[in-house]
Amino acid sequence: MPVREREMQVLRAGQVFDGERFVGSRGSAVDVVLDGDTVVRLGPPQDYASEVTVRDLGDATVLPGLVDGHQHLTWDCSPDPLAWHADHDDEELLQQGRDNARRALAAGVTTVRDLGGRHLLTVQLRDELAGDPTAGPTLLAAGPALTTSGGHCWFLGGECADEDALRAAVSRLVAAGADVVKVMATGGQLTPGSAPHESQFGVTELRAVVESAHAAGLPVAAHAHGTGGVADALTAGVDTIEHCSFMSAEGIAEDTALVDRLAASGTPLSLTGGYITGLPVPPAIAIRMPALLAHLRRLVEAGANCFLSTDAGISPAKPHDVMVLGATQLVSMMGLTADTALRLCTSAPADGMGIADRAGRLRAGMPADLLVVAGRADDDAEALLRPVLVLHGGVIVTSSGASDPLRH
Ligand SMILES: [Zn+2]
Repeated sequence: MPVREREMQVLRAGQVFDGERFVGSRGSAVDVVLDGDTVVRLGPPQDYASEVTVRDLGDATVLPGLVDGHQHLTWDCSPDPLAWHADHDDEELLQQGRDNARRALAAGVTTVRDLGGRHLLTVQLRDELAGDPTAGPTLLAAGPALTTSGGHCWFLGGECADEDALRAAVSRLVAAGADVVKVMATGGQLTPGSAPHESQFGVTELRAVVESAHAAGLPVAAHAHGTGGVADALTAGVDTIEHCSFMSAEGIAEDTALVDRLAASGTPLSLTGGYITGLPVPPAIAIRMPALLAHLRRLVEAGANCFLSTDAGISPAKPHDVMVLGATQLVSMMGLTADTALRLCTSAPADGMGIADRAGRLRAGMPADLLVVAGRADDDAEALLRPVLVLHGGVIVTSSGASDPLRH
């Protein structure tokens, strides 16, 4: 395990995105000052004591590490997740999780919330990764998603027949140290016999989950595609609504009243995006893509409390570092500005997941989790695809080597 760097270091760059806005004007650099694992200052260049390391990164952008609120680290991105789980034992799934965690971190995703792995493997992975900042992102784990008998993702081990079973399952997850409870309000496209537009649990069952999780201090993330499931999740008071895609049997069922209700509620919506174009995505998503993009843009424009997350792991088009691509696609496919797109990948998910004290912003007192990319991200969102340096807990995880003018 690497020794944490305790000394002061300064990252000097042409541009900084602080999680909400770009800081710094052309021609004047910005310093991000780190003391060990903590950010201590953001501001104009200063003179520093001779023992302080100053990295002049030139025409680069420093950002907070990205925050992906919905991944599946122990999944292998194959077209058939059911077969993957049937054919591989726990140790193989864990090894896949370790590899995926490294891949996410290398791209600059420094915080990941895992919303569904078999039994308690992701809780185990979280604890393992916590010992080494270079091994993977800071992880929050749900364990298995709670679902109906034979329902969406039943193969993770979270089947619950009724309200009592849901309460008991939440208690078990709390005892096991889960960070969040994931519940499948509707079906999904990956599980045979399950349909995304159909509700699995109703308001009563979802409320039972919310009550028991909140009593133990845990938030609830509800997977919801169909409008019935989205509305029920909202009514039940879940903490994040995952996907929120408004899928119907044939397409996307726009529902202006529900969009307005979602926006007025302020409930964080974890919108799914980011995929490698040209690789297979689930067919139900592929045929709906143009309508889905328009729907997601409508949610953002309505002022709903949105953030981007990727659902990485569920298909070949969604590797665990796909969030950087997702950030660029918010600009290229949805027409958002670069600062809005980056906010949806940093401070917005941190706020939405209740971890704003630990992730998503660059300011004094925050962990030194940073992504440095080549070029100016305000002009060119694709700069996100050119990582120069990634730090996690103040430790350099990856360095491209292309720009390392270290000087004292
Ligand atoms: Zn998912």
